[in-house]
Amino acid sequence: MVSNEKKYWNPKIETMPRDQLRELQGEMLRKQVRYVYEKSDFFRELYQKAGIEPEDIKGIDDLEKLPIIAKDDLRAFRASTVDVFSGCLCTPIRDLVKTHRSTGTTGLSNIFGLTRRDHDTVTNAFARGMHQLGVRESDTVNCPAETVVGWHGWSMNTSGMRRLGCKTLATCQNIFGLAPDLFNMLRGADIMVSLIYHPEEEIKYIIENNITPKEVFPNLKFVYSGALLSNSRRAIMERTWGVPVKNCAGSGDQYFISPECDYSAPYLHFMEDLCLVEVLDPDTWKPVAPGEPGELVISNLWAEATPYLRYRMEDVVVYDPEPCPCGNTHIKVRYLGRFAWSANVKGKLIFTDDVEDVLWRDPGIEMAPYQVVRIEKQPQDTLIVRVEVDRDKIEDIEALGLKLAGDLEREFGVPAQIEYIGSEEVVAGEIKFQRLVERKG
Ligand SMILES: [Zn+2]
Repeated sequence: MVSNEKKYWNPKIETMPRDQLRELQGEMLRKQVRYVYEKSDFFRELYQKAGIEPEDIKGIDDLEKLPIIAKDDLRAFRASTVDVFSGCLCTPIRDLVKTHRSTGTTGLSNIFGLTRRDHDTVTNAFARGMHQLGVRESDTVNCPAETVVGWHGWSMNTSGMRRLGCKTLATCQNIFGLAPDLFNMLRGADIMVSLIYHPEEEIKYIIENNITPKEVFPNLKFVYSGALLSNSRRAIMERTWGVPVKNCAGSGDQYFISPECDYSAPYLHFMEDLCLVEVLDPDTWKPVAPGEPGELVISNLWAEATPYLRYRMEDVVVYDPEPCPCGNTHIKVRYLGRFAWSANVKGKLIFTDDVEDVLWRDPGIEMAPYQVVRIEKQPQDTLIVRVEVDRDKIEDIEALGLKLAGDLEREFGVPAQIEYIGSEEVVAGEIKFQRLVERKG
């Protein structure tokens, strides 16, 4: 580690005192509202219906005057106008240098894009995010985001690595084949940081092939993931990879990257000079207190092409407004899960990651595929978890089921039940595993 390495990618912004940051946000919000009112059919219609004029938004305190929007609002607009950008594209299509789509976890994908200026902003944001995560320009990185999920906004991760000045390799082709590509195709490349994607697949490959990652890549510093990590999952990954696992989240729709730093984990740093972060009670849409779960709502302050304002991310998070010991002054957010990946058991919202954290503490079923069952009529009385186990390896499968149910009951304080399933039943989607199944009842 060189002693003169820079601590921040953008010191002025990353350590900006909060009152200045707030003023900057207010100014950007004021401009952005004026802009979307003029350029976006969706937002103009929305604000006119709500009786909002751009002049009504003078600063950050006026934010709550703006209506909150959801993916379904964009879908409805799209259905009624046949505009694939849902009335949100503020520039001619020909000005877009890149277009992306959302995963479509909960319905038809949204489409959005980047102008040349946007592309530059996002590239810098990803460079800054990767720097916060601990990547340095002298590193050789395996960052195949653009080759494995080129359709997703998060694929800008690779551009960010290049902007940071890293020796960047983006050659892997298949999200399920990252480990074979890394340990075969890139053997000899002195990889220091690598993206990982489907931890179960990668760990299985490492174990089955008896690989010691640090022997193949002696200078490997850490691997990083862009998906949620339960504590159990992170512990298993760190043991198998032999290096720290770092996490970041982000959004395809609004192109943000939020990394953890060595001081903030499992909270992630957000970039409040680029987006306004609100954590709101989904019933009242009022801000929740720090540490209280609420839905993440984001307002894009920078985009020319497809900015969304007060956009529901569908993620349930908690936040910590205190500056991080690393010196960063921006808000820190921890993801708990998604409403779409949770079941309400006797009034308690239980996320698939919470269940995973408990299940995988048992060495007998580490990394075992699982699903949480959500009964159609919510709330449900029992937490039902389906687990795939190797029956040949488990001595007493009934005893294991009782033990796991007991672990879950103790953790969540609700009745729990384990069902065993065959390997064909847990389907890995293109990007996310199906960890929640609906059941009639
Ligand atoms: Zn930090």
